[in-house]
Parts: sequence; C-alpha cells; structure tokens
Amino acid sequence: MAVKIDGKMISAQIKDELKEKVAALKAEGKEITLAVVQVGNDPASTVYVGNKKKACAYIGIRSLAYELPEETTEDELLDLIQTLNQRKDVNGILVQLPLPDHIREDLVIRAIDPKKDVDGFHPQSVGMLSIGEKGFVSCTPAGIIQLLKRSGIEIEGKECVVVGRSNIVGKPMAMLLLRENGTVTVCHSRTRNLKEVCRRADILVAAIGKPKFFNHEYIKEGAVVIDVGIHRNENNKLCGDVDYDDVYPHVSAITPVPGGVGPMTIAMLMYNCVQAAEM
Ligand code: NDP
Repeated sequence: MAVKIDGKMISAQIKDELKEKVAALKAEGKEITLAVVQVGNDPASTVYVGNKKKACAYIGIRSLAYELPEETTEDELLDLIQTLNQRKDVNGILVQLPLPDHIREDLVIRAIDPKKDVDGFHPQSVGMLSIGEKGFVSCTPAGIIQLLKRSGIEIEGKECVVVGRSNIVGKPMAMLLLRENGTVTVCHSRTRNLKEVCRRADILVAAIGKPKFFNHEYIKEGAVVIDVGIHRNENNKLCGDVDYDDVYPHVSAITPVPGGVGPMTIAMLMYNCVQAAEM
C-alpha cells in the first residue's frame, strides 16, 4: 500500500514548532512582524491573504495588512515597499501575486529588501539558493523538501524529475533537490519523450498546471510522486496535476490534493518570517 504523504499533519507540526520558537523569541523581547500587501480584490488572493493572516495569528507573528485598491499605481506601491523596507519593526514583506496588469511584478519583487524577502522571489534570494548559501527559499519547493524529509524519504542519490520550470516552483525545486544530493532532471513544455523521462524518476515532482495530466504511464513502479498542481474540476472539487486514482497503485508514496503540498506553502512562509527575525 502506498503512503499518502500528509501535508496537513506535517504543516501543523511545523507551525507548532514555530509557535514555540516565536514564544521563546518574545520572551527575549523580540517581536516578529509580517507586512502583507494586496492590490485589488482578486477572490483567490483574498483567500490566500486571509490564510496567511490566520497562520500568523496562530504562531504569534504580528501581521500588518495593506489592502490597496486596484487602481493603485506602480509608484504608490513602490513607495509603500520603501517605507516597509525602512521600518525597523517590520521583519518580512509579502506582496500577494498576481498584481494588476499595470504594475510590473519583477520591479516590485526587486524593490523588496532581500533581508525581508520572505517569499524568496528576489534575485538575491534566488542567487543565494543557486550558490548553496543561506537565504530565503521559495515556500512551495521548501515545503516539498520538508514533506520528503519528514516522511523519511531519502533524496540523496535518487533520480529526481521536476516537470515545470517556473521561477517560483520548478527552478527552485530543482536547486533544492540538487542541494540534497539528488540527480536532477528538469522538464518543460519543449521536453521530448516526457513519459520516458518521467519513468526514470524515483521522485517525480509534477508542477505544470494541467489537471490530472500525469497517469500511470508516466510513473516508474514504486516511485514517490509529489503533486504541486491545484485545480477545480467540473464538480468544483480540487484536483492536482496527477491523476491520483490511476497512479496510486503504482507508487510507494504520493501527496494528495488537497492536503499535500498546499498546506506546506504557508507553513514555510511562517518559517521564513521567523528566519527573517533571527537574521
Ligand atoms: P507556471 O504556469 O508558471 O509554469 C508551468 C510550467 O510547466 C512551465 O515551465 C511549462 O513549461 C511547464 N509545462 C506546461 N505544460 C507542460 C507540458 N504539457 N509538459 C511539460 N511541461 C509543461 O506554473 P507554476 O509553476 O506557477 O505552477 C504550477 C502548478 O502548481 C499550478 O497548478 C499552480 O496552481 C500550482 N501551484 C501550487 C502551489 C501550492 O501551494 N500548492 C504554489 C504554486 C503553484 P514552459 O516553461 O516550457 O512553458
């Protein structure tokens, strides 16, 4: 029987560990503050921001909410970021993406002080990861490493195939697996023989944003499958990039959707906030 990797349980464990750490920091007089900036009122973003605030409250991190109207200009947003960069009481800055079309995301990400870049998207954070130095790591891939480690799944020496090469998931995922001494292959939309490459994987990370794309034909018997995708199917139920029921009999361990990778992202954001305060 395959192991269902329980992201809900593991993320709760991490949040409880962080709660203790935050209490200890408070006892030393150190308060942690995260500034959460949202522009416009995209419903999905509002849900994500709400969940982040809830996690902060649970752990004991103070959250400052900046809910800006859709018509906020790029300059106004950059000014706010400068103010938050300068505030000594703010440890972390999170700008909820996506931003409205008239605001350049890359400019906004670069404006955040790398010491407060708790999303790990700033080029300096990405660079630190690629040269193997300490810095903030993008939360979703960092959470996947925790899922693997805390489920007793060894990475060292394993064939790891990451499908997807986005800056927030695929690329940092590949760097982290490499850091853990995996043998890493990164696939994308131009990869030839995708099935064949995926069938080499001891650990397959699916992050392409296509519902139920990966069936058993992509899976080596006994592989570990990590499903990053989140979609709503025709019945309004959540599903991932992996066809869970079809793949399940062939794997040794797999993350479900929901309850796998999803809950880890916020737990690792909280981890990064604590790291920001400790730095
Ligand atoms: P992007 O759209 O930014 O990137 C998708 C990647 O998949 C691209 O590199 C693309 O290749 C590749 N791709 C697309 N189609 C194929 C294909 N048929 N075969 C091979 N590769 C393909 O997505 P993200 O990385 O941001 O997100 C991926 C998924 O993960 C989404 O479903 C998203 O909702 C989910 N997600 C979940 C999170 C969580 O907390 N659980 C957090 C972040 C994302 P190319 O570069 O060539 O275009």
